Amino acid sequence: MSQQVDQFKKLVAHCKEYGFIFQSSEIYDGLSAVYDYGPYGSELKNNIKNYWWRAMVQMHENITGIDAAIFMHPKTWKASGHVDAFNDPLVDNKDSKKRYRADQLVEGVIDKINEKAEKEVEKARKRFGESFDEALYRETNPRVSEYLKQALDIEKRLAQLMKDGDMAGLKALIEELEIADPESGSRNWTEVRQFNLMFSTQLGNIAGEEGKLYLRPETAQGIFVNFLNVQKSTRLKVPFGIAQIGKAFRNEIVARQFIFRMREFEQMEMQFFIRPGEEMKWYEYWKAARMKWHTALGTPPEMLRFKDHDNLAHYANAAVDIQFEFPFGFKELEGIHSRTDFDLKSHQELSGKKLQYFDTELNENYVPYVVETSVGCDRMFLALMSYALQEEAVPDAKGEDATRTVLRLHPALAPVKCAVLPLIRNKEELPEKAREIFNDLKQSFLCQYDDKDAIGRRYRRQDAIGTPFCVTVDFETIENNTVTLRERDSMVQERIPISEIEGIVRQRTDMKLLFS
Ligand code: ATP
Repeated sequence: MSQQVDQFKKLVAHCKEYGFIFQSSEIYDGLSAVYDYGPYGSELKNNIKNYWWRAMVQMHENITGIDAAIFMHPKTWKASGHVDAFNDPLVDNKDSKKRYRADQLVEGVIDKINEKAEKEVEKARKRFGESFDEALYRETNPRVSEYLKQALDIEKRLAQLMKDGDMAGLKALIEELEIADPESGSRNWTEVRQFNLMFSTQLGNIAGEEGKLYLRPETAQGIFVNFLNVQKSTRLKVPFGIAQIGKAFRNEIVARQFIFRMREFEQMEMQFFIRPGEEMKWYEYWKAARMKWHTALGTPPEMLRFKDHDNLAHYANAAVDIQFEFPFGFKELEGIHSRTDFDLKSHQELSGKKLQYFDTELNENYVPYVVETSVGCDRMFLALMSYALQEEAVPDAKGEDATRTVLRLHPALAPVKCAVLPLIRNKEELPEKAREIFNDLKQSFLCQYDDKDAIGRRYRRQDAIGTPFCVTVDFETIENNTVTLRERDSMVQERIPISEIEGIVRQRTDMKLLFS
């Protein structure tokens, strides 16, 4: 675990040092759980969004995009259930004055018990070697099966308490499990109470409750209320989808773990409108499609898994998370939810406007059902950084052992596609030629020109920001118009004519590679 903590610290430091992510308002000691994306971070984030948009909208004839406003009529949040039910259970420690999410304290206990079971399994794996039958061991070893049973039992009780909104029961469970404040060790807890996660603000010209506005806690509602506008203007037929990328805001109680849990973040959501009764078919379809979207990027499959929800939200009849193995364990990266007709029906009731679709094939009117996919852009960013950022041993210029930090992002997502580097800068013809090449390439993709420092250091810097290709201009370039093209991961250099650089780099960084 400490190795993972170490790796996580390095990731956060790397993001700052290389201009990916900065703490918001850092000069004022920062604003908790709010972050700014720097020069390379904003490029990478744009590329993630572009990959999602193209995979969802461009690649599906029956999915179209919108960009709804962050502010919505306050009744929206009444209809969606957010005013009444978008709560997290909060508990304070009376001694340390620290605030926690009660469900997460219990989840911490479950994780610890599961970790104990995993440790036993690992020990046995080493002891038995090749002949180890893991499934059998989990079932039959008394200590391991007891741990697993214990964890499952607590998990089920937690799910039930959350479903019933039983805050007193949650407090009792915290006491029964003898959970102590991780910071102070104190068990002196307040009552558990519900805390609404929506940020509110006030319209200038209307005083009181009437003028109360919310910052949207999810982008989905902008799609629901526009469902008929989009359907009528595009003449799309069910099944069809509406996609959107945009900011969402949640007043998270415990906002730790860098950009994993932020108070202002960005969601990439798609609501797929279908015939009632067909939701399980489409739910399975989108589960598979979304997993493929992740693995196409080169995300190691063993770092991704499905996790069914034990505790279904008020609007869902099936829900699953795609979890990613972050440096702090497997956690939700994306949610896929079968939302039934809950949202459209509630908006229909509260607004008094019909939100129905006439199905010409069935010759009937109905409120469509919805399957949604919802992935956090920032969590996606963190997932990519967590496996792409690597340290590896490489020989230095003198052939001695050295390490390099390399960001092995898929080339289509890399912030800078190509760097143009004159081998040395005090020979004027080299920088001049390199500039000429750079000025040509920059019209096609994001390139960098760099002539500072020794060439080895410039390669390292490009490796650290994930640039897939470096073009080096040397004396041979002046003689025969060829350059070396260095590939980031293999560090192999090939000699190619200047006229071919654009085509090769374009082809190898093309997002098309992710769709084939
Ligand atoms: P969690 O259980 O981790 O709070 P959630 O189940 O509330 O997440 P959803 O409402 O399903 O999340 O939101 C969809 C996606 O939005 C999540 O899968 C996640 O990627 C992203 N997301 C949600 N809350 C945050 C947050 N506070 N910071 C960053 N991303 C978030």
